[in-house]
Amino acid sequence: MGSAVVSTRQAFVTQHTTRQESRHDLADGTSVYIGTVRRPGYLLMGVAGPMPTHVADALDQYRSQEIPTKPGDPRPRWLRRSAIEDPQQTRGVAAGWPLLCLWGRTDTNVNRDPQEAHTGVVFVDLRGVRTRFPAMPMAWGLLGNTLFYGTLFGVPWLVLHMLRRAIRVRRGCCPSCGYDRPEGVGFCPECGHAYAR
Ligand SMILES: [Zn+2]
Repeated sequence: MGSAVVSTRQAFVTQHTTRQESRHDLADGTSVYIGTVRRPGYLLMGVAGPMPTHVADALDQYRSQEIPTKPGDPRPRWLRRSAIEDPQQTRGVAAGWPLLCLWGRTDTNVNRDPQEAHTGVVFVDLRGVRTRFPAMPMAWGLLGNTLFYGTLFGVPWLVLHMLRRAIRVRRGCCPSCGYDRPEGVGFCPECGHAYAR
């Protein structure tokens, strides 16, 4: 098991940016190594483990560079529950802007068959490159982004709409359709809109 963990860790280190890697000792006596790549609208998180903390301690004697131990578990909820037993490595990807709203993960255990389990990952051929996209929705992220884009496009539309009505009223026209407003009539002869006064 030890050699499998070491080779998994080496694969993990080569796949992810090592300088953003940190070790986290979890409350249940296990440890994880986490590497994070974070850009606006994009999150890539590589997780080695969880493994028993004493295994992580032994592993640390092999490593050539210092990996800081940080408190807490920085994994988002969708990265904590694995699709396979005892995952040795997990690659999580999330996307969305301004809030992350889709997630996907790939769990790996080289001692099991199949070795990989994909959850919410869609593979798309982008100019000949097989690219992973997340497809599982995050409720709060989708809600937040809906409000954000609704406000972004809705408020200017509302302002323009109110401005057009104000201009029509000032010109003595129907605010609803812009047709000339005749004297002494309570509604628009063109569209039926009832005038306020
Ligand atoms: Zn009208």
